[in-house]
Amino acid sequence: MAARNIYLDNNATTPCDPRVVETMVPYFFERHGNAASRNHPFGWVAEEAVDYAREQVAKLIHADPKEIIFTSGATESDNLALKGVYEMYRRKGNHIISLKTEHKAVIDTCHKLEKQGAEITMLDVKRDGLVDLAELEAAIQPNTIMISVMWANNETGVIQPMKEIGEICKKHGVLFFSDATQAVGKIPTNPRELGIHLMAFSAHKMYGPKGVGALYISRKNPRVKVTAQIDGGGHERGMRSGTLNVPGIVGFGKAAEIAMKDMEKDTERVSRLRDKLEKGLCQLEETYINGNTEHRMPHVSNISFKHVEGEGLMMTFNQDIALSSGSACTSASLEPSYVLIALGLGDDLAHSSLRFSLGRFTTEEEVDYAIEAISKGVTHMRDLSPIWEMYKEGVDLDKVEWAEH
Ligand SMILES: *Cc1c(COP(=O)(O)O)cnc(C)c1O
Repeated sequence: MAARNIYLDNNATTPCDPRVVETMVPYFFERHGNAASRNHPFGWVAEEAVDYAREQVAKLIHADPKEIIFTSGATESDNLALKGVYEMYRRKGNHIISLKTEHKAVIDTCHKLEKQGAEITMLDVKRDGLVDLAELEAAIQPNTIMISVMWANNETGVIQPMKEIGEICKKHGVLFFSDATQAVGKIPTNPRELGIHLMAFSAHKMYGPKGVGALYISRKNPRVKVTAQIDGGGHERGMRSGTLNVPGIVGFGKAAEIAMKDMEKDTERVSRLRDKLEKGLCQLEETYINGNTEHRMPHVSNISFKHVEGEGLMMTFNQDIALSSGSACTSASLEPSYVLIALGLGDDLAHSSLRFSLGRFTTEEEVDYAIEAISKGVTHMRDLSPIWEMYKEGVDLDKVEWAEH
């Protein structure tokens, strides 16, 4: 097999669509104006381009362009939504409910707010990664101001029941924020219809450029307000100051337009490839798919290969296939993914998982190659493993007394 350079890590970031880059280029050169410059055509041209991109992005999520605040990405949007709502509404209450499987941009922001006096409830999820709706509703208190639930999980692709959560929020008069970074542009997302009041997303997860994102903020029924986290020239209706990233925003708009146009076609193709990959890899013994497979993004598969350490497995084809493992590198050691742990996986199964995230530019040939290379890798690793040998001999591994290490 010849060396390849296969990218199956689209949940980390997607490549820019060439059509996006083409649209951006003039805004670095002849149309380089500052969208806030009022006195000359350079400024007007830039402002017009931003207005158009705002319409494109709004259209993708069925929102009013005035409900779109451009930011530097989903991390900033998450921060603005959580901190901005907390500061604006803390007289009403200080309690925020979220999930243990949220992105770090939500979890760490919640913990920061906790230090400033917020009461935070981080709920467990069910074994399949879905929120328990009864538990969620029971967690609401008189001082609850917001529920924050991500639309689709970045590690497992599991899609939460947004409509039902929206109904619970409406019933209790609580704001509903969603980090929808992994969903927007890939599946239909209509926050107003589902009762979502604030929604974060990012261009570079949907074939747009890095460093630009958005926060949707409902303007009617209810009109939601957030306290700005970046002050300055009063850009973005005072909610996010700073010179607008005009080329980035133009690219984001184009990416949104393409996503809308190609969504059905992309989903059909990529889900077929994902299913093929999964079917191929699940030929291997003791291989498990993590998370609910019915309520799941079409391009994601998170698989545990029991008794095979994911990081080691990746070394067997390191240069060929770009993937994420279920282990996160902290300062000193490899920690198992907190998302997989929240699903109830043991450390071993979490460490033995790989996340496959396909994309618009993944080819069938690449999937075929990945199946072959990974199957070989798993078999090779297991052949070297004394634990696997014991397992094959029928030893009950739960009864073995392991040496301390
Ligand atoms: C990538 C990602 C983020 C962070 O987005 P940036 O634009 O890189 O800041 C936040 N939430 C989720 C679910 C993501 O997948």
